[in-house]
Amino acid sequence: MNCGKKVKFDTKEEAELFITSLGPDGQGLTAYLCNLHRCWHMGHPKNYDDNPVARINNILDKLSDGYR
Ligand SMILES: [Zn+2]
Repeated sequence: MNCGKKVKFDTKEEAELFITSLGPDGQGLTAYLCNLHRCWHMGHPKNYDDNPVARINNILDKLSDGYR
């Protein structure tokens, strides 16, 4: 997980407020909790490197596709 260079927020509200302030540029960005830094980052849900759960879900989706 390489999030050391990412912007850190103390609270989820702070992160979401920042995303909102970006306007159209912030579309698709979400705030997520970082266990490493004990703070909040913002990122794209499609960035699977920063989101192991989403990555696993994506793999499971591909596997289930094979049975159709
Ligand atoms: Zn982090």
